[in-house]
Amino acid sequence: MELEKQILRRVGEAVARFKMIREGDRVAVGFSGGKDSYTLLEALVKLQRRAPVKFSVCAFTVDQGKFLTPIDPFRDWLKERGVEWTLKVDNPSVRLITEQPEHGCDTCSRFRRRAVYAIARELGANVIAFGHTADDFCEALLRNAMFTGRLSALPAVTYSKKRDFRLIRPLLYVTEDLTRAYAGEAGAPVIPCGCSMKTGTVRRSIRDMFGELEKEFPALKSTLLSAMGNLNPSRLLDLRYLDLEGEAEEEESPLAVLNDGGFIEP
Ligand code: SF4
Repeated sequence: MELEKQILRRVGEAVARFKMIREGDRVAVGFSGGKDSYTLLEALVKLQRRAPVKFSVCAFTVDQGKFLTPIDPFRDWLKERGVEWTLKVDNPSVRLITEQPEHGCDTCSRFRRRAVYAIARELGANVIAFGHTADDFCEALLRNAMFTGRLSALPAVTYSKKRDFRLIRPLLYVTEDLTRAYAGEAGAPVIPCGCSMKTGTVRRSIRDMFGELEKEFPALKSTLLSAMGNLNPSRLLDLRYLDLEGEAEEEESPLAVLNDGGFIEP
């Protein structure tokens, strides 16, 4: 299946390049029932069988009271695939919806993070995998640059505060048109999230802008991802990285070439 090959190649590239998964890891995949986390889970289960390192994969879902339809039908579906799945209703999040219906993404994420760490600990996992896609990385880059005055996107790999979990985002090279097609092809019982914040104004504007520009420049997101891995700090304005005294040697800009995945390698 060409689509699956393409996804596995991109996930494999991200996992290897950023050393996301290592020998003996137990990876807990955050499974939201959407197309992205479905793709992530399938990809990791498939890569696990052929990877040069041994690791195990399990899945978990935090129910924050925002699913539009019950997520439980996934139980049999995942069981058939041999995936160990834990579903936990997070009561503090459910209470938050009633007590503070206007809570923003920051509060919601904080509640979710606490629940995620507790479940991962119960599952004996040392790695937690999230389903953020290339679209999320690109949107975060623009959102931060335009609305928070910071040039940053999302971390491909980072650690929890106490460093008890490695947090990874293996879908960073996979765009949502691919996850949509993959979940559709597999007939996965995708569960929609009813969160009204999901289509917040800024996010929707950035998505619309991408949609418009991509009609003419289809490789836009892959170019942006390449840019995130190819910084030229001397052409930015952060004094921490500038050589105002002219002491550093001039560096040639690396040439960019397209590889088969459509991404530009420096
Ligand atoms: S979009 Fe909704 S579910 Fe997602 S973090 Fe924001 S409030 Fe929570």
